[in-house]
Amino acid sequence: MIDVKEVEEPKTIPIIGSIEGMYTVFKHLFQKPVTVQYPEHKEDQGDRFRFRIYLSTDDCVGCTLCEQVCPNLTITMVNLDKENPRNKRKIYPSVNFGTCTVCRNCEEICPTDAIYLKDVFETARTKNSFFYSPTELEKNEDEVRR
Ligand code: SF4
Ligand code: SF4
Repeated sequence: MIDVKEVEEPKTIPIIGSIEGMYTVFKHLFQKPVTVQYPEHKEDQGDRFRFRIYLSTDDCVGCTLCEQVCPNLTITMVNLDKENPRNKRKIYPSVNFGTCTVCRNCEEICPTDAIYLKDVFETARTKNSFFYSPTELEKNEDEVRR
């Protein structure tokens, strides 16, 4: 049988601990907050910050290199019926932002700079809407209705 011990209530008030807690609260009253009132106030992103992937379907030649180099199958080539003499197979990348790790391999390997990342990060979505078709990748965020 397991021996269960009763935990006794402390009989004295932990004065030192209370004073330390009050001191910490008081100290922070006069310090600048480390948080900002987003979205009214937006902090500057670092120069190298990237998140949102864009695509120029005019420049994409359908080589599939971006799909092949993506480490987690975020990119899938899909058909798009667009007149583009540089892309005879009519295949273009689509992106699932739910799995993209922003490694930028796709941008680096693209021979025509058709796929690239920008510092746009406000991409809040409804459930199951992380998938972007090639035409949606061409648009700005406010044009992609979700
Ligand atoms: S940034 Fe990386 S993870 Fe995201 S789509 Fe490109 S290759 Fe894939
Ligand atoms: S986006 Fe670039 S790498 Fe991807 S299929 Fe088009 S041309 Fe090839």
